[in-house]
Amino acid sequence: MSRAVAIGGFDHVDALSIGGNSPVLIQTMWKDSLGFSDLEGKAGEAIIERIAALKRMGCSLLRFAVPDLEAAEVLGNLAEMVSMPLVADIHFDYKIALRCLDFPIAKIRINPGNIGSRERVEAVLSKAAAKNRPIRIGVNAGSLPPDLRDRVDSGDLSQAEALVEAAERELAIFREFDFSACLVSMKASSVADTIRANRLLAERTDVPLHIGVTEAGPLIAGVVRNTAALMVLLSEGIGDTIRVSLSDTVEREAIAGREILACAIDSGGAAVDRAGSQGQGVKIVSCPRCGRNSFDTHGFTEKWQPALYAMDKNITVAVMGCVVNGPGEARHADLGITGVGNKVLIFRYGKVIRTIDAADADGAFREELGQL
Ligand code: SF4
Repeated sequence: MSRAVAIGGFDHVDALSIGGNSPVLIQTMWKDSLGFSDLEGKAGEAIIERIAALKRMGCSLLRFAVPDLEAAEVLGNLAEMVSMPLVADIHFDYKIALRCLDFPIAKIRINPGNIGSRERVEAVLSKAAAKNRPIRIGVNAGSLPPDLRDRVDSGDLSQAEALVEAAERELAIFREFDFSACLVSMKASSVADTIRANRLLAERTDVPLHIGVTEAGPLIAGVVRNTAALMVLLSEGIGDTIRVSLSDTVEREAIAGREILACAIDSGGAAVDRAGSQGQGVKIVSCPRCGRNSFDTHGFTEKWQPALYAMDKNITVAVMGCVVNGPGEARHADLGITGVGNKVLIFRYGKVIRTIDAADADGAFREELGQL
């Protein structure tokens, strides 16, 4: 079992624990750069609401790229405004890491091997330790140290072994400075390398692991590749936080993570012991639609998905295409909707409770949801 690392829990920031017996956490990464103007007025309110909605969807940590000192200031200001623990993703520049640690930013991702001199490493690690901020090492198959890359190219090391070696070099630096609040991710775009590398490192260390397939592709490819890797690792008890990296929105990354965790829990194995509140919340069932349909299940599901996933209820909601089979196929649903001609039916546990005009479907559905 991995060791537990505390995160947040200061100022207004949520207190979390990563690793040990704590629930596996979902994280995502903000897709755009942020400027000061993005945090002002209506734009700022929209970002705060978007982060609050991500939290309601089950996302626990949100990472931002911090390429320069101005970005550190902007992220620092945002961290003052939200309770979700924010993570600063920094490459190379130790001054950015030091500045981030002045703000209520809950975690930083930086590789000590990239910081430079011993003094700089010490400055970052001692400030992080004094402020109780964990650090994640992020090793990526696309940016292995040159000597390890050469050994992979010559066949001396597998990609997975090289990822582990790179992570262990970084961990050795943490050990040297007696810094234990660290986590590791080893990311590859290959499912097999992701599984092998994480299995290998999990055998050798108790450092919590952040797992996921990186550069996994657009929505469908990305979800499939991540599911393939994460289900294997989670079933073996490997992985303390997950990110489903997609060429798509943060919301879809969070929803995909939540669905993968729910599947891992549902299928048994080690993930069940660490379920916590994961796998709970609204479960959406929707029919694929066929020639019998009289209701646009695809459009309705797409429109309602973000709001449903953001609800704090443990219910099943069904969106079905026809009255002939729909309510029967979804008779376990707490609430369902389907159509017949130009009318829409709302049902509970397979029994129709309301018949309305199509134009009133959203309003009536919202009302019934509110009563659950
Ligand atoms: S609920 Fe109706 S429309 Fe949907 S798949 Fe079943 S038969 Fe087809």
